[in-house]
Amino acid sequence: MSNTNIRIAVQKSGRLSDDSLKLFKECGIKFESGGSKLRSISSNFPIEFLFLRDDDIPGYVEDGVADLGVIGLNVLEENRKDVEIVKELGFSKCRLSLAIPRNEVYTDLSYFEGKNIATSYPNLTNTFLKSKGVSAHTHEISGSVEIAPSIGLAEGICDIVSTGGTLLSNGLKEVAEVFKSQAVLISNKSLTAEKTSILDKLTFRIDSVQRGQNAKYVVLNAEEKNLDKIIALLPGMKSPSRVPLAEKGWYSLHSVISENDFWEIIESLREAGAQGILVLPIEKMIL
Ligand code: ATP
Ligand code: ZN
Repeated sequence: MSNTNIRIAVQKSGRLSDDSLKLFKECGIKFESGGSKLRSISSNFPIEFLFLRDDDIPGYVEDGVADLGVIGLNVLEENRKDVEIVKELGFSKCRLSLAIPRNEVYTDLSYFEGKNIATSYPNLTNTFLKSKGVSAHTHEISGSVEIAPSIGLAEGICDIVSTGGTLLSNGLKEVAEVFKSQAVLISNKSLTAEKTSILDKLTFRIDSVQRGQNAKYVVLNAEEKNLDKIIALLPGMKSPSRVPLAEKGWYSLHSVISENDFWEIIESLREAGAQGILVLPIEKMIL
């Protein structure tokens, strides 16, 4: 048996860390994390974790120092490293947006024509403005971008926003979205066959965890006369299972429904005569 490990870089501490570690733990991968630990080898899956600053992750994956990485799409697209995006992970969602002082009148993007914009994301900002036919000057700074307008460094900023609270407390307002981001799993472009097969096992587990998160297990009771109507409403993986209850003429139906149309289906089920509806979380869903 070979003892090759795939090596994955994750953020040591920050807005990607907790959800990254949680995802791999939900995939059943055991490893130590936290404290001053910079690397950790799993005891039950052929994977080694490196805990790094997020900005270094795309470069390490491009160079092959790490085979895989978890990184915000914003950082990846800004740095333009040559790596493969394996899949979107659905957490650390945020947006890169243009903002200006709150008391300024904003009409449209032409507002930025000829203006100075402070940002840590000059490439994404320039690409966006160029695609809209606006020529502005970006001024790259690495942090505390929100204070740039009040100290006279720039007329506007382009920065990461999730709720808008930070902008508000700095007297700014969001006027245009430049880029939507979330965490993604990336991989080196030339993995060995052995590492590719480890990656396949890993993505299979991630897919199962993600499907579970997007679905609910529904159990309900129904009278025989309402069964057809109710079954027609339940999509399920196959058709719903139907279990006769002790009381004659009554059945219990079990099915899986998607989070997206959850409330609509529940309402229609009640109208069709479903009773005692139970909704349960699904931990994993294997196809
Ligand atoms: P490091 O010390 O590793 O360099 P950092 O300070 O550069 O960390 P964080 O603030 O931890 O980075 O953000 C990491 C990533 O999380 C961002 O690049 C972005 O993709 C995402 N992110 C940033 N702000 C938010 C937010 N408010 N909500 C959700 N996700 C966010
Ligand atoms: Zn960083």
